[in-house]
Amino acid sequence: MQDAAAHKLASYVDALRPLISITTFDFQAVDTLIAQVGRGFDIYEYNHADGRIDFRTKAPLQRSDLGTFLALFDTNEPKKIFVVLKDVHESLSNPAIIARLKSIALKSMYSDYYYVTIFLVNSIQVIPPELEKMITIFDIPLPTQAQIQRIIVDYAQGFGLPMAEEVINDLTVSFKGLSEFEIRQILNLAYQESGTIDQNDNALILKEKEQIIKKSGMLEIVVYDSSLSDVGGLAKLKEYLQCKARIFNNLGEAKKFGIDLPKGLLIVGMPGCGKSLTAKATAHLFQVPLLRLDIGKLMGKYVGESEGNLRKAIKTAEAVAPCVLWIDELEKAFAGVGGSGGGSDVTTRLFGNFLTWLQEKESSVYVVATSNDISKLPPEFLRKGRFDELFLVNLPDGEERRTIFEIHLRKRGKLTKSIDTIRLIQETEGFSGADIESVVKEAIETAFFSDQLGVTTEHVLQTIRLTKSISVTLKEKIDELRRVFERFDFKPANEISVRTI
Ligand code: ATP
Repeated sequence: MQDAAAHKLASYVDALRPLISITTFDFQAVDTLIAQVGRGFDIYEYNHADGRIDFRTKAPLQRSDLGTFLALFDTNEPKKIFVVLKDVHESLSNPAIIARLKSIALKSMYSDYYYVTIFLVNSIQVIPPELEKMITIFDIPLPTQAQIQRIIVDYAQGFGLPMAEEVINDLTVSFKGLSEFEIRQILNLAYQESGTIDQNDNALILKEKEQIIKKSGMLEIVVYDSSLSDVGGLAKLKEYLQCKARIFNNLGEAKKFGIDLPKGLLIVGMPGCGKSLTAKATAHLFQVPLLRLDIGKLMGKYVGESEGNLRKAIKTAEAVAPCVLWIDELEKAFAGVGGSGGGSDVTTRLFGNFLTWLQEKESSVYVVATSNDISKLPPEFLRKGRFDELFLVNLPDGEERRTIFEIHLRKRGKLTKSIDTIRLIQETEGFSGADIESVVKEAIETAFFSDQLGVTTEHVLQTIRLTKSISVTLKEKIDELRRVFERFDFKPANEISVRTI
């Protein structure tokens, strides 16, 4: 089952990598792998709860602290052993433990006939900086389609359940992105609930995937009800997304034709002008779930934890793929990286890992990143090839403002022929989409208090006169953003011919 994984792990052992970090909660899968790779080695195991235990039977052997346990192997006699440490992440901030691990690792690298490979198996990734250069991170790969099929067939045979090939194929696709452990758990649950495994279990799989997302804590499923028709203006961007949707919804055919898998896009621009709205509308257009990544939540307190969290978040998004992964306020996450401000080491590493993933991504996770202040973004983001396209969202021009007024009035059942939208757009130069939405809301309230049946042009104009647009309240910021945007060669999201800025 884990041939490719075992092969990769064995190659690390053969290359005398002394410390191998595996972050997972599926300790059973790790044991199977280590046993597979460790033929011919004596395997010693220690876990935080029981001390030293028998690797094969899991019977407790001796309660001792980690330092005493490790000292057993820090001698000059020849050895060829595996040492498996589980749930010891808290001890990895202890200088005595770090020194002991380092001493064993150095012997492994430089002493003849001394082969000790230590596996750090934790559910939280912790990499002490003193050991960073000696630690190899190993990710258990997710099962391939053929492997998933095997898991389902084995499971069904184990319980003597008849399963049509069609059902197996269907479930295989739904299970994509989950670990073997998670797949088995869901199969168990399905079998316990209905005594069978059939097509109806697809819904259960989706629900379980949602659970996994919630538990990951770094991704949030965004419930959206906005479609492209709720976005006023931004014609170029909408046209682009419609093209991408045709590819995204026919990935098999598009790939055969030689089209690359869409990676995603970066939308930068003025605040309150529809960037987030477009992210939601993209998920609607692609008919897939929308996941929001909170980069702030990735930051962990242990060294290496943040990178581990990012990988976990990416793995989770890939489990739910096809999906749209929305990264809001990108500049806040990666501020200072590569620039003169100097981002922290952790942020710089996170950024590097994120870019590598983005570049090499083979999954149908479509990334929509949004940002106001690109001057704070590392320039690497703006280079071609990272995202498929970079779009600039400007303040809406007259025609766009008219559509936005219409959208928000219609949404609230207040769009009538008597409303003179031409007058409204004449009075709203410099207003953002969010400004217009708030004008509409307030005008409706005013109309309600004035006991009139509907909203009139005068109600809206009255509210406009009392409203300070973003171009006034945030004048300096908007001027500064304009200057920054001018320096870059972005594709305008708005129609260019009638631009107002
Ligand atoms: P920020 O950069 O401040 O996060 P944003 O560009 O992401 O802003 P949105 O959150 O998309 O702005 O817009 C806020 C609200 O304003 C939206 O929920 C929507 O109701 C309204 N709005 C903004 N732009 C548009 C638009 N182009 N068409 C229709 N409504 C819009």
